[in-house]
Amino acid sequence: MIKIIINFLLLFPLGLGYVQASTFVGNGGNASDLELATVLASLKESLSSLTGEEKSALCTCDNMAYDHPLCHVLDNLGEKKKQFCQNFIYQHKNSLATLARLDGAIKFKWDRSRNLKVNVGKDIEEVSAVTMADQKIVILNENDFLAAPFLNRIALVSHELIHLLNDNGQFIGDLGGIGPFSGNYGKKDFLTVVGAAIAIHVKESGSMESYYSLKTISRAYDHIWININSVTGQMSKGINKKFLLKGALTGSEFDVAYWRYNLGLILGGSSVKSQPGHEDITSQLKYDDLKGGVGYRIFPINSPLTRWSQFFMVFSAQALFGTYKHTLDDGYVREDDKVNVYGGEIGWQNFFPLANGFWLIIGGSIKIHTPCKLDTVNSFIDQPIPSLILGASYAF
Ligand SMILES: [Zn+2]
Repeated sequence: MIKIIINFLLLFPLGLGYVQASTFVGNGGNASDLELATVLASLKESLSSLTGEEKSALCTCDNMAYDHPLCHVLDNLGEKKKQFCQNFIYQHKNSLATLARLDGAIKFKWDRSRNLKVNVGKDIEEVSAVTMADQKIVILNENDFLAAPFLNRIALVSHELIHLLNDNGQFIGDLGGIGPFSGNYGKKDFLTVVGAAIAIHVKESGSMESYYSLKTISRAYDHIWININSVTGQMSKGINKKFLLKGALTGSEFDVAYWRYNLGLILGGSSVKSQPGHEDITSQLKYDDLKGGVGYRIFPINSPLTRWSQFFMVFSAQALFGTYKHTLDDGYVREDDKVNVYGGEIGWQNFFPLANGFWLIIGGSIKIHTPCKLDTVNSFIDQPIPSLILGASYAF
């Protein structure tokens, strides 16, 4: 935890032109946007409602009921630095509140390359965020951001937003001194202090509520998914007739998936069977398979501060190994046959976020396999099986 905090506070200079090999993904319907939107909403709310009376409580942890790790940054600041920090936040609170918008003038971008670097003098530093002030772009390392506790996210974003403030016609960088924060890295130290101070203010002002109301929504960026579905498959009329089947095939499906961003690996299996008939002859068809493949998902709804930001659709293609088992029984004689098939399945599933990692799944699939002949009725099964699925998922 401390390590994360330290990483977050070691933010190095404005990376004008220094960002290397980054992959940018826009804001539209990204799963992590919910997290960023809640940070910005809390920032905006707490800064725009900051009163003159609250000013003297800024940049200290004096009113905190407990010792938050970010307070270590504010301990032993000294009167001069504390006052400079208080004045700065109070003076720029409205500008910062205006900057703290997903739909405002600033473009927030996610870096997924694990390769966010800036030049610091002769050295190249790995960083969690970079702001390109002249282009009004803030780039956040997505993994680092999601791994950080909420208040550390606030401190990080505050630091970056201050880089976008216009201070006497100039942007505030990390190098050089500012006010009582002197030395080569005076500005960086100052931004670290102000970032921590704003985060503590957010905590103290109670404006994390906009975050808490969204806190339980299941998050699409979880990696491991366990899905259990009920399946209803439909054979063609011709096959139903030949095999003396009654109605649809029903059963269940289980799979485990690993998702990273929009790509997933899926492993699972399904088992369906027909309802046994109750006429002269009982006929039952059972189908089981094991399957594995890949999925791609899209987030069609761009609404960062709502549950719908997490809704996604999965398109999947899997290879399968299946077995058909057919039983005919007329009360005196029973005949069984079993054959194996190979094939594939394409699927489309909608994932609706519930709470605490749980999801509702509605979708469909089509299985296509090698034609197979069952000796019980001396007939082939050679047609795709379309299915509907309804299920639940848990992700973590
Ligand atoms: Zn910085």
